[in-house]
Amino acid sequence: MICPLYTEPAYFFFASDVPGLLYYSHLPAIIVALLVGLFVFFKGRNQLKNQLLLLVCLSFSAWAVANLVLWTNIHSDTLLFAWSFLGVMGSFISIFSIYFIYVFLYNKDVSLLIKLIFLILLTPVLLFAHSNLSLTGFDLTVCDAFAYEGTFFKLYHTALGAVALLWILGLLIHAYTINKGTEMRKQILLMGIGIEAFLFSFFTFVSLASYLATIGVYDDSRLEFLGLFGMVIFTVFISILIVKFKTFNVGLLASQGLVIALVILIGSQFTFVTSITNKVLVGITLVLTAAAGLLLNRSVKNEIEQRLKIESLAVKLERANSRLKQLDKQKSEFVSIASHQLRSPLTSIAGYASLLREGNYGNLPSKMREPLDRIEQSARFMAESIEDYLNVSRIESGNMKYHLSDFNLRDETEHICDDIRPEALRKGLVLLFRTSMNSTGVVNADLGKVQQILHNLINNALKYTPKGSLNVVVRDDVKGKRLYVDIVDTGIGMNQDTLESIFQKFERGDKANTVNVKGTGLGLYVALKMAEAMNGTITAHSEGDGQGSRFTLDLPLVL
Ligand code: ADP
Repeated sequence: MICPLYTEPAYFFFASDVPGLLYYSHLPAIIVALLVGLFVFFKGRNQLKNQLLLLVCLSFSAWAVANLVLWTNIHSDTLLFAWSFLGVMGSFISIFSIYFIYVFLYNKDVSLLIKLIFLILLTPVLLFAHSNLSLTGFDLTVCDAFAYEGTFFKLYHTALGAVALLWILGLLIHAYTINKGTEMRKQILLMGIGIEAFLFSFFTFVSLASYLATIGVYDDSRLEFLGLFGMVIFTVFISILIVKFKTFNVGLLASQGLVIALVILIGSQFTFVTSITNKVLVGITLVLTAAAGLLLNRSVKNEIEQRLKIESLAVKLERANSRLKQLDKQKSEFVSIASHQLRSPLTSIAGYASLLREGNYGNLPSKMREPLDRIEQSARFMAESIEDYLNVSRIESGNMKYHLSDFNLRDETEHICDDIRPEALRKGLVLLFRTSMNSTGVVNADLGKVQQILHNLINNALKYTPKGSLNVVVRDDVKGKRLYVDIVDTGIGMNQDTLESIFQKFERGDKANTVNVKGTGLGLYVALKMAEAMNGTITAHSEGDGQGSRFTLDLPLVL
């Protein structure tokens, strides 16, 4: 028993003759720290950052409880124990805070070296807490139960607090810079302000109060009490992080529960605070917490509504998407089946019409030649159009196969020109083949596809040139390793609008119908896609309507 004048506190903590602010500063801080710490821990026990936050909150609560005991208890042994306990808990707060912030910012455990540093920093505190290095004496003669604290230890605790403040500040700045442009920055800012406000107020006010009292300048306990409010600020920031950013992986309903519990707990202080000042202070805290809770609640509600909307839209989109995929598959299957089935009868129609016209089934009246000619041409055009559709469907489904090999494109182009020349002559057109080469003209490409492209380009030149000539020029750029085939005609040419659209699917120039009614608008689209798949390209050039055109196929040259 230290002072016979004082009475035994009710329920260990509730004494009547203590400063009024004591309960107001200590109890809410202890309650919210424990509530938030345990809440976060039980919502994610296996996460290191959740465990560490609990340790920070527990160390703080233990400190605050020990401090409360110092004020209310009258037994010397309890007082001595509580007094030496303060330093240990203060140091734990510093170290666990650094550890917690590190894991929160980098989402990984600290290295073994850092753990060792933590241990080294804590060792003196743990070893000598209950020795006379920590408490040098105890004055039994005064009723205020005054302990003499060892100067070195006092400085050590304060220094550890300063180390924690600076270390954490460094970590925060580093994490903030490396998380440029991410949502994490807001979380770093909130957590940073919360923890630094807590540590700063805690260490500054507690050390300042004790220092000023020691040198006899200002001996008012209320200064120390102020230090505890930092914890309330910290837990408010933690709650915002939990509710708004789902930090610590706490569900939305649970976060709302936390806010409600905080309000109830703070409100419950009304049942035991007695003085008017404390009632007013509790009232203000309650209103502030409730307002913050309401704001958070509203933002959470908005968030839930938006999320539900997005989720239902996503489900709808998913369904529409799979339906579209199904339809697209059906369409491709239909196109390929229909095309294959149409192509074979058409080829035989064209074949038989040709045989009939040639007289293979006996002599026919001469006036039947023209209709047979028409039958053959139309059947062939239809077969070609179907081939175009098939090619488009192969390209778009990614089923077009390319078999690359080295071949002489100069020679191939000459052969194709030789094949087409008779038809050009029938139309009264001259088809010239020229070369300007520094290499033999070997390219690496799919021979069949290149033939198809050249047939398409030269036939187009033929179709869209009513009179004049066609010039096919093969040239190379040995340095740039490219081979070019120009198809130049003196035909209907193209204006700028036509030039810009002709490589798109189903696009035909305005003037196309005047000279060549038949056409699908697919030939150049297919040709360009094929050239591109073989690392080449096709370009078109014309000075305008009636000015002729130049198409150039460009492929990689093999040297
Ligand atoms: P199609 O010839 O079946 O219409 P293409 O894709 O082969 O389809 O050609 C697209 C359009 O490009 C043609 O309709 C025509 O307007 C234009 N075009 C192609 N080649 C020439 C050319 N040599 N001269 C003028 N216009 C051309």
